[in-house]
Amino acid sequence: MFASLLIANRGEIARRIIRTARRMGMRTIALATEADRSWPHWREADEAVFIGEGPAADSYLSIEKILRAAEETGAEAVHPGYGFLSENAHFAEACAEAGLTFVGPPAAAMRAMGSKSEAKALMEAAGVPVVPGYHGERQEPDFLRRKAYEIGYPVLIKAVAGGGGRGMRRVDKAKDFDAALQSARREAQGAFGDPRVLIERYVTAPRHIEIQVFADQHGHVVHLYERDCSVQRRHQKVLEEAPAPGMSEELRAAMGEAAVKAARAVGYEGAGTVEFIADGAGGLKADGFFFMEMNTRLQVEHPVTEAVTGLDLVEWQLRVAAGESLPLTQEAIPLRGHAIEARLYAEDPSSGFAPGTGRIVAADFPAGEGVRVDSGVDAGTRVSPFYDSMLAKVIASGADRRQALERLEAALAATRFAGPRTNLAFLLAILRSPEFSAGGVDTGFVDAKGEALTARPDLAPLALSLVAQEIARRAPAPDPASPWSGCEGFELGGLERQLAVPCLVDGEAREVRLLWRGGRPHAPDVAAARATDGLVQVSSEDALYLLQDGHQAVLAFPDPLGRSLAEVAGENLVRAPMHGRITRLGVAEGDRVEAGELLFTLEAMKMEHSILAPAAGRVAALLAVEGEQVEEGAEIVRLEPVAQAAQTAPAEALDEVSR
Ligand code: ADP
Ligand code: ADP
Ligand code: MG
Repeated sequence: MFASLLIANRGEIARRIIRTARRMGMRTIALATEADRSWPHWREADEAVFIGEGPAADSYLSIEKILRAAEETGAEAVHPGYGFLSENAHFAEACAEAGLTFVGPPAAAMRAMGSKSEAKALMEAAGVPVVPGYHGERQEPDFLRRKAYEIGYPVLIKAVAGGGGRGMRRVDKAKDFDAALQSARREAQGAFGDPRVLIERYVTAPRHIEIQVFADQHGHVVHLYERDCSVQRRHQKVLEEAPAPGMSEELRAAMGEAAVKAARAVGYEGAGTVEFIADGAGGLKADGFFFMEMNTRLQVEHPVTEAVTGLDLVEWQLRVAAGESLPLTQEAIPLRGHAIEARLYAEDPSSGFAPGTGRIVAADFPAGEGVRVDSGVDAGTRVSPFYDSMLAKVIASGADRRQALERLEAALAATRFAGPRTNLAFLLAILRSPEFSAGGVDTGFVDAKGEALTARPDLAPLALSLVAQEIARRAPAPDPASPWSGCEGFELGGLERQLAVPCLVDGEAREVRLLWRGGRPHAPDVAAARATDGLVQVSSEDALYLLQDGHQAVLAFPDPLGRSLAEVAGENLVRAPMHGRITRLGVAEGDRVEAGELLFTLEAMKMEHSILAPAAGRVAALLAVEGEQVEEGAEIVRLEPVAQAAQTAPAEALDEVSR
């Protein structure tokens, strides 16, 4: 077995691979970027190599940098995880040339399956059922339109090089074909640098059922049964389960056999997944499934297979890559119970699943019987815009589907997550829907339910009334000895007075309102705003997070004094733009600086960055020393405007608050 393993990936999958490699006695080597400083994956490895600032093209997708890291650390093998370079045949070859074992299939098998159209032709020849359609070389719009007509509408246009649902268009009527073709080609060109498409019949009531396969270097090929991944948004999987609801022994055997045939046809080795589309109309049938594509890597949803077989798929991958035979024969592979996985993404389902970024304030997943959490993040982790927005996976298993479902629902309901918006409430809504609960939904399920799954309740009234209550509670009781209390006639501002405190709810300007009466503030009733069942409050240094049913509202108080100073002085706090070391401080406290003058230099990624004064001013405070390692965003220099007294009006700013 290998003595050391470099994991060419990040986040939850890097951590998951490290776990198994370490158990098998390997030295683990992780990669990271400056944008991943706050991520746990690289700290858990025995060693970590920083390979870039942030953008994937210059880090996790850079074959050159990864090979250099492997050389520097003396790695013997490379595990690519999924995404990034995992299905890149060049990378597999480059690893071999560098004397490294690539934990994955041979480059030739990756190439054969890399093009959806070539893969389909190969599968047809091998006797594996494929969706009826055209997957040849010709690409003229007139020809493809004629093919679509022959296949019969609805049809699906797919990018030959596709992945992640991109470059895919469903067309229901002939008159829409040309426009759909154009836009599919554009998207395919943009995403994969290859505009070629294929046309196939759109399977109605389609269910995505895939088979996990494994092959070794000695000609053994087995399958580890199926996973149902039909709950998708925009052709991206959201929930996955094993076994597939409604699966018969007969169909399982037929699909397993077809998948093994597919793997054999391309000389496969290692872990792979053969994806099929099954016609779910009127229930699954042994002759109603078609090959879609083969993913030549470990899959995001592999934990559900691990749960129902009791096997460790990463261990199997490493054993196969090291030349060992498959640990079990087909008959010896167990299948028991049921497992469901939910993918937690930093995204906003209520605005088209737009990905979110920012610092995670809380990430507490419950431990429960039958619950596994593969998380890439902790409290304090910063989600950057550079990579896939998946944060964690929660996998629940049980004796049967009902038990797995109940456990998953309970685990997600008890998850406390604050920070960037997530799809947590969306996941809960799916699990609680009667359709998912009944089992066997098709891939149209999420779209068909629409807003029922994605709507976001307005938590702002609740947040505002809770804060008002809190202010009222903390207000000092009237002092009976004071001539000012009890004598309402003397109260400043009259008998009754409204107090409005400006605040931000989810970044929008709002006001906390209180009524001042009898010398005490009175707050509106919380219960009137919204039921507080299951409400959790999490506070960070600058905001309050209200969590309920997977939804979140963020309440913050702008600092009007700080802001008015900043506005007058320009940016008065100069921060480190990235993690690094302060190599030189160019100023001392009390110095006057002009705009553009050097404040300090920062060494990051072997480069020196000069940080200049954004505006003229005086150095009010130096918050770092030369040689110090600083975090991204750390305050280094505080400037104050030179003609401070003349320019700022703190009294007025304060006045603004109380008005
Ligand atoms: P699976 O069937 O395993 O879910 P996906 O198509 O969802 O396959 O992709 C696997 C994972 O890799 C997903 O998290 C996806 O977002 C991520 N991914 C896909 N393409 C890339 C890429 N080019 N770079 C980084 N991650 C990617
Ligand atoms: P990708 O490479 O993006 O994963 P796939 O070919 O695996 O592309 O298809 C992704 C999803 O698109 C499937 O899981 C399924 O929901 C849908 N899909 C693909 N082919 C068909 C089809 N012929 N009919 C209906 N839905 C399909
Ligand atoms: Mg696919």
